Amino acid sequence: MFSDKEEFKQAFSQKLEAELSKTVKTATEVDAYRALGSLLREKIGKKWLATDQRYVQNKEKQVYYFSMEFLIGRLLGNNLLNMKMLGIVSEGLQDLGFDLNRVEEEESDAGLGNGGLGRLAACFLDSLASLGLAGHGYGIRYKYGMFDQQFIDGNQVELPDLWLSREFVWEIRRPEEAVEVRFRGHVSSSEDEEGGLHFDHHDYEQVQAIPYDVPVIGYNNETINTLRLWSVEANMDDTIRKAAKQEEFGNFLHHKRSLEEISEFLYPDDSHEEGKRLRLKQEYFLVSAGVQSAVRTFEQLGLPWTAFLEKVALHINDTHPAMVIPELMRILMDDKQMGWEEAWEITTASVSYTNHTTLSEALESWPVDMVRSLLPRIFMIIEEINERFCQSLWEQYPGEFDRIAELAIIADGQVKMAHLSIVGSHSINGVAKLHTEILKKREMKIFHDTFPDRFNNKTNGITHRRWLMHANNPLADLITDTIGEHWIDDPGRLTDLLAYQDDREVLERIQTIKQQNKEAFASWVYATKGITLDPQSIFDVHIKRLHGYKRQLLNALHIMHLYNRIKMDPSLDMTPRTFIFGAKAAQSYHYAKKIIKLINTIADVVNNDPVVSGKLKVVFLENYSVSLAERIIPAADVSEQISTASKEASGTGNMKLMMNGAVTLGTMDGANVEIHELVGSDNIYTFGLSSEEVLEYYRSGGYSAKQIYETDDIVRQTVDQLIHYSPFSKGDTEFQEIYDSLVHHNDEFFVLKDFRAYVAAQQQIDFDYRDKQVWNRKCLINIAHAGKFSSDRTIQEYASDIWRIGPGNMVK
Ligand SMILES: *Cc1c(COP(=O)(O)O)cnc(C)c1O
Repeated sequence: MFSDKEEFKQAFSQKLEAELSKTVKTATEVDAYRALGSLLREKIGKKWLATDQRYVQNKEKQVYYFSMEFLIGRLLGNNLLNMKMLGIVSEGLQDLGFDLNRVEEEESDAGLGNGGLGRLAACFLDSLASLGLAGHGYGIRYKYGMFDQQFIDGNQVELPDLWLSREFVWEIRRPEEAVEVRFRGHVSSSEDEEGGLHFDHHDYEQVQAIPYDVPVIGYNNETINTLRLWSVEANMDDTIRKAAKQEEFGNFLHHKRSLEEISEFLYPDDSHEEGKRLRLKQEYFLVSAGVQSAVRTFEQLGLPWTAFLEKVALHINDTHPAMVIPELMRILMDDKQMGWEEAWEITTASVSYTNHTTLSEALESWPVDMVRSLLPRIFMIIEEINERFCQSLWEQYPGEFDRIAELAIIADGQVKMAHLSIVGSHSINGVAKLHTEILKKREMKIFHDTFPDRFNNKTNGITHRRWLMHANNPLADLITDTIGEHWIDDPGRLTDLLAYQDDREVLERIQTIKQQNKEAFASWVYATKGITLDPQSIFDVHIKRLHGYKRQLLNALHIMHLYNRIKMDPSLDMTPRTFIFGAKAAQSYHYAKKIIKLINTIADVVNNDPVVSGKLKVVFLENYSVSLAERIIPAADVSEQISTASKEASGTGNMKLMMNGAVTLGTMDGANVEIHELVGSDNIYTFGLSSEEVLEYYRSGGYSAKQIYETDDIVRQTVDQLIHYSPFSKGDTEFQEIYDSLVHHNDEFFVLKDFRAYVAAQQQIDFDYRDKQVWNRKCLINIAHAGKFSSDRTIQEYASDIWRIGPGNMVK
């Protein structure tokens, strides 16, 4: 790349001049970002092309990871890390008067996702490239990503995310690779001489899908894969013709705009489906563009169609892209003249599906009428899949009407996307051991009974390059100093650290780094919010989407309780605590927004009361995003993972925090169970109902929140403060809804049930933190076991068990 710093400085100065007509003296930080981006893109161009050529030449099997979300965050720093240029560039820029950290902040945080699901997709791409595997992402280039969050009077306000208003230096628009996607219209059939049926889709509306390619740079290797983001553009000829035909020429612009809204914005709901027509359009747009593009790449190999399943794997991230199944069927039958059986075999052998949730409100289903009118040919194919599936069930389970009705893809006027995904793919995976067991034994039992071999587990992971090496470079350096650098290519080797669990010097160095990270974070909080944090206090971090099941409310009630205790006894012996929150709520999720208001209200009371000021602080940071996560996580002592057991499929925030030496305070849910299994009870704080107990309560009742409220004085005192006159309610009815959910609507998420156990676990942390040696050892043990949660491990499992790619195909 650059052999030394001087060479970089020269190339950088030339870029500034040639492209921006600036000198090093007149250039701003934005200029520096643009020049650096352009310089790096130039540097990687050859390698990117060579990767593509290598895949074609070796006829390597390609994985296409279809996801409606890619929460990639900023790319500059990470790309430099993976290119091993961080040192040269950072020092070179410094010589020229720029601070790389500030330059990095000029990049928009690409928020093309809601939370965990989208961030997982981003980590997977990093691991695929870093392992030298041929895997690419297909997503949508939303003009507006996840909304920007602001607090006004403690309430969340959503502002549009104008991420493209700053140049996104990484993308390349490729109009020559555009494909056409068709909506609406009619389908007619005709018979050929041999009696074969042919289908003709006409009177459709057509849009162009234009790909924008973003390079995905492998760590220190020869691989650069592609994240292909599709953007809609109206097909001008078609749009004009249509408008003319409908005598709507005056409405031409209106018509054009209505087509172009497809890639306008990301739906900001996490784990909740609304069934909106525009969302269905977005999903088919991604699917159709992606499948056509994958088929085209395959055809360039000049192989027979029977080779498709050996050369192409289509993966669907949750059910959002499930129409990959009927879309591939459509192309194979209607365009490639294949019969049903042959097309079905190719399709099911190529498609695999990840289930992310068992929450019923998150399961996608579409009204039959909507699918039929918007996607008439796709609907016909789904109907046929359903009929053939039900027929085969009938043969397998004659007379079992109930079973067949329960399994059907189309029922009660709805198309059930999870059913379609299971029937049309060869692999269905859950995202943590517990989640997969719940799928197999409960939520999808009937499917598991029907297709037992299709179900498997792939516990989620995170890229240790972004979340440790980049976000917490001092810790990464300490690890390398201690055990050598092999853990970077083989993160499982982080367990070598275990040999140092009683080494005073290593433990003290871990503590020093944590302390410095906390101080850096505290100064940033002071600079941005004007709140002073005590870096000696426990930094207790709860960062994730705001959702009832994630139970930020449980944390909030505990803080109210602590506040009450200190007020009653100002000399209370406790370790000072700083509670740090970050969370966005979906615009339409009223209840979640009330909890945001509550936490902000608590922060206001606590931070302005001199009686508690030496002991308690509460900070709710706006706009939780990848960049904010990267700031907070290295400074965390305690990782709050307190979902109602059985509800959090895996979690990945838990893994990021563990890898940075935070100790988990969690329920036995999702991947917390596996963290517990690895680190042992001494190095994690678990509490509360088990998933079995929760599921049993849901099934057979027997939980009375009211009874807890009536019998537990502390619970009642705290909960009453939501509505009675108190520093938190100030006599307002603001939090009535929260109170009612707990006391009158039987506390769906078992907040009151788990309250006492949570308080006790927090108390234990308060004690344990006092002995720094003991605490540091817990940190080390958590870091040492976090290698298991590198997405490299996860991707290796997908590669060998599901996609059947590498290591024979691997080029390093
Ligand atoms: C990791 C991550 C998430 C997922 O967090 P969970 O705690 O697993 O829900 C959500 N948002 C962002 C920005 C993340 O980086």
